[in-house]
Amino acid sequence: MEIFLGSECNNNCRFCCAKDFISEPFNRILEKIKKAGKINFTGGEPTLKKRLPELIEYAGEKEVEITTNGRMFSYDKFTKKIVESGLDRAIVSVHGHKSSLHDYLTRSEGSFEQTKKGLKKLKEFVPVQANVLVNTVNYRSLPKITEMVVGEGVESVCFIYPVLGGNIFNYLWFFPDFGDIENVLNDSIKVAKRNGVRAEVLNVPRCFLDDNEINAAEKKYPMIEEKKFVKTNGCRRCIYFERCPGVSQVYVNLKGEKVRPVEKNGM
Ligand code: SF4
Repeated sequence: MEIFLGSECNNNCRFCCAKDFISEPFNRILEKIKKAGKINFTGGEPTLKKRLPELIEYAGEKEVEITTNGRMFSYDKFTKKIVESGLDRAIVSVHGHKSSLHDYLTRSEGSFEQTKKGLKKLKEFVPVQANVLVNTVNYRSLPKITEMVVGEGVESVCFIYPVLGGNIFNYLWFFPDFGDIENVLNDSIKVAKRNGVRAEVLNVPRCFLDDNEINAAEKKYPMIEEKKFVKTNGCRRCIYFERCPGVSQVYVNLKGEKVRPVEKNGM
């Protein structure tokens, strides 16, 4: 279960849509933890929640992971405290392979260096996944970003095509065409696999992936009600019709029904 700990953040990402989400009272968060199986603390930036160690401890034996920009983990004392509270896994958002790209997207000078240091520190204690939000600014650098996070020793890398909530018309510039990202995305998956690192792709349909075994699985973002996947007319003749979640409604609205049905005799 994803548990939102508030929209406060020490980055100021150009594409952030979490600012409008409303925090829940502490007691409600405790109730959610009680009911949850596996827990993922998200934000905003969950490490800014003062009572985070308490919340992790409260989860007891349950598996706890955190989705973070990693910056706070560049501080040894903080990392030690969170790990000792019982953190099991971390997902670190990485937007670039160098400061000029990452910091441009986060609008926070020095964030890249802190994220990289935080990722390195976390990795000493728990498995770490890198999440890369694929967008018009960073997609050409995806293989380099992958090389960087693989070199830092992540256990997996997840490429996420944005399915943003809120008013998407503020973010039209941010969504690349699937056709534009497919080569770099497939190359990046190869970089990860070649190095024995698991690669996942979210929100990109199978018809744009070389390795059709990679599941463009639907991930639940409870705060984003607009998130819906649809099958387009072209999907009807595709061999993945039954198993593929299709294309996000946001994408179809923005770009039209650009899919590449995989037919029985090949692509
Ligand atoms: S054509 Fe449609 S069903 Fe087939 S892989 Fe693409 S999105 Fe999925």
